[in-house]
Amino acid sequence: MHKLLGGLKEGLIFVLSAPAGTGKTTLVRMLCDEFDCVQESVSFTTRSARANEVQGRDYFFISTAEFEKRIADNDFLEYAKVFGNYYGTSRSLVEQQIKMGKYVVLIIDTQGALQLMGRLQAVFIFLIPPSMSELRRRLEDRKSDSPEVIEQRLSWAESEIAIANRYDYQIVNDHLKTAYEVLRSILIAEEHKRVIPNAASH
Ligand code: ADP
Ligand code: 5GP
Repeated sequence: MHKLLGGLKEGLIFVLSAPAGTGKTTLVRMLCDEFDCVQESVSFTTRSARANEVQGRDYFFISTAEFEKRIADNDFLEYAKVFGNYYGTSRSLVEQQIKMGKYVVLIIDTQGALQLMGRLQAVFIFLIPPSMSELRRRLEDRKSDSPEVIEQRLSWAESEIAIANRYDYQIVNDHLKTAYEVLRSILIAEEHKRVIPNAASH
């Protein structure tokens, strides 16, 4: 069967950043639903789980002491403190997925992405909310954060958007289907940059 995506022996890494509430999780779930080869990297965090979140699916929820031990052991490809909690990407999990030919999406904040730029071969994508008022509406509608947390996230959003131009691609997530078409086109195009030297033998 001919596949639109997933033709590389060794996978690719996509780094996706956006202010909280822009739609990263929604868009990446759409990619994973359409393409078997796309996998979201599951991060480690010291934040507590929200009501609908599952250990090992949304995050690996761990204590601060355990997180700090993992920092000391150099287990993280990158990590950052976001809104008072640690978040980090496991180096070994990403390496395993790449070796299996998976296209791994890291949903990480701008601090983490800046640590990786120039150091990791990856495609950097920034998702932009259509406006600050729409971002507020999405955060409020999602009903997962308190009003104080929402204010904190909105004030941080502006400084994140300010460095969007450091990324390889920028997508405005206004109309969901349009943003998704752009995102999937980027993955397809990136595979074709590499298809000749890295092609799987059939
Ligand atoms: P993030 O992962 O960036 O924090 P989510 O994917 O959780 O954001 O999306 C935040 C909220 O906005 C969710 O309720 C989601 O259904 C909604 N949403 C995402 N994209 C759009 C869009 N293009 N138009 C309207 N609502 C959207
Ligand atoms: P949330 O608490 O809403 O799940 O995520 C808050 C922020 O942490 C988001 O901007 C998200 O991209 C970021 N984040 C999640 N996982 C990681 C990670 O492993 N590393 C870094 N640097 N940021 C992360």
